[in-house]
Amino acid sequence: MSVETLERPEAARAVGTDFDAIVIGAGFAGLYALHRLRKSGHAVRLLEAGSGVGGTWYWNRYPGARVDIESHEYSYSFDDELQQEWVWSERYPAQPELMRYLNHVADRFDLRSDIQFNTRVTVARHDEDRACWLIQTATGERFSARFCVMATGLLVAPNKPEFPGLDGFKGRQFHTAQWPRENVDFSGRRVGVIGTGSSAVQSIPLIAEQAAHLTVFQRTPAFCIPANNRPNTSENDQALKARYAELRHIEHEISFGGFFLTNSRIELPTLTTYADATPEQRLAEFERRYQSGGLNCYSTYSDIVTNREANDALGDFVRNKIRQRIKNPEVAEKLIPRGWPILTKRLCADTNYYETYDRDNVSLIDVKDTPIEGFTPDGILVNGTEYPLDDVVFATGFDALTGSLTRIDIRGRGGRSLKDEWAQGPRTFLGFMVEGFPNLFMMNGPGSPGAVFQPVLLGQFQGDWLADCFDWMRLHQRRSIEATEAAQDEWIRHCNEVAEATLFPEANSWYMGANIPGKARVILIYLGGFLEYRRRFNAASDEGYAGFTLTA
Ligand code: NAP
Repeated sequence: MSVETLERPEAARAVGTDFDAIVIGAGFAGLYALHRLRKSGHAVRLLEAGSGVGGTWYWNRYPGARVDIESHEYSYSFDDELQQEWVWSERYPAQPELMRYLNHVADRFDLRSDIQFNTRVTVARHDEDRACWLIQTATGERFSARFCVMATGLLVAPNKPEFPGLDGFKGRQFHTAQWPRENVDFSGRRVGVIGTGSSAVQSIPLIAEQAAHLTVFQRTPAFCIPANNRPNTSENDQALKARYAELRHIEHEISFGGFFLTNSRIELPTLTTYADATPEQRLAEFERRYQSGGLNCYSTYSDIVTNREANDALGDFVRNKIRQRIKNPEVAEKLIPRGWPILTKRLCADTNYYETYDRDNVSLIDVKDTPIEGFTPDGILVNGTEYPLDDVVFATGFDALTGSLTRIDIRGRGGRSLKDEWAQGPRTFLGFMVEGFPNLFMMNGPGSPGAVFQPVLLGQFQGDWLADCFDWMRLHQRRSIEATEAAQDEWIRHCNEVAEATLFPEANSWYMGANIPGKARVILIYLGGFLEYRRRFNAASDEGYAGFTLTA
């Protein structure tokens, strides 16, 4: 579908627009945007490619898929009755429970009446004369709206490397992010998993339990910490819910990660630096965070991603823990991450991941120095050796942050293409708007802190800001808002400056765009923390939308 299709005369015949806003994507952020904008009296239509709500959680239904942020935090806070009434079954809910939750939210707030499912948006073009967006779908349907809100997700566009010979492979192929809806049975089969990031770390132990043999092809070992998942007992649930308002307040007042709940006790990030602690205190702090489980090690010291000594110490600490979990020392050495600072690639929260490599039916193939050469009809070829396989699972990640936007043909003023403009890396103001693309908003977009904070909370924050902005524009009869070039340049300068002060640029992570061949290597997330992000965001609106141009 090309942009030209939209330029046919009949495409522009409507004088008014179909909607005030079109929201694209029915994940956490999109559902909230729909709810919030509708509440302010705006006519909104949400378009969703899938057949149901869920966004990332709709597509990522691979074995073992579960969130690694605490359930009481990874959930909406905008409605107290909802958060009081909903009872999570576990500390880290699995994908089916997250889907039940989001379906419940959609029903409870009657969101479905304004959602059109099975509708993949392929083109979004700004019409300057009418100051609106023309949206076109894969089936040729067209919509127009003053505002276009991209709630298309951070980790959505799958990365599937184009290995030579893949088309001729006779076995079944799966990607963790495009998992079939029906049950996939690996019983009696020789399965290969490519990748050892979070998705692989969650699925490998379960696939290994079913498969006749599992071969894992590992390029970069990850740092994994036991998730310590556990049931949410009613005692725990009640204790937390009694303090929910306080917990949500805390959540809003910390910059990274969130709160951790250990036996109903709240653990907050340590605000002191590594240098402030004695060697004994440091070890005790690492141990305490490690035992609490999951992503808690992010909260050890305030300089853990900026101070090399602190970071190395935590890295060594976790490496020792990994060694202790694997019986075979040769395999253990292969699984030890080296050569990049811990936390600069996403930490993985695991359940029985390392122990799985002690199983007789699991083998680990290192493809760092000798990359996968390609596929034969019967398996994968590495260093001249063929590994025969019936099934291959691509756990090869995503074209993160930008991929879900650039796969849509987005055209701003004068037909400017977002994809072309971002060839050297995304350019945004606050990870939210782009100069040259008026009335286009991105939730949890590139240059925002969502990926290192709490995407549900950020989505709510941005949804509230959007609703206030639209109300203000309606009241003041403005029809268009756009980031200024100066504000955008300053934001990018600030993002880069903050990132340069950390160890993040050293890792070949998706945060840096380094996981996708040919993608520009720039920081894709804001590392200055939510508090600073919120301050700058609110300052813009408090100062009469400084950094934006508004036209009457
Ligand atoms: P990922 O972290 O990007 O991992 C992809 C894996 O595939 C990496 O090990 C990568 O190796 C490997 N790979 C890619 N191309 C390859 C190639 N050509 N040959 C060999 N190996 C290749 O992707 P993910 O595991 O899907 O996770 C992405 C993010 O989603 C996570 O970081 C996390 O933020 C989120 N996530 C969260 C959860 C959760 O909440 N529990 C679960 C799943 C995902 P390299 O490292 O060498 O590139």
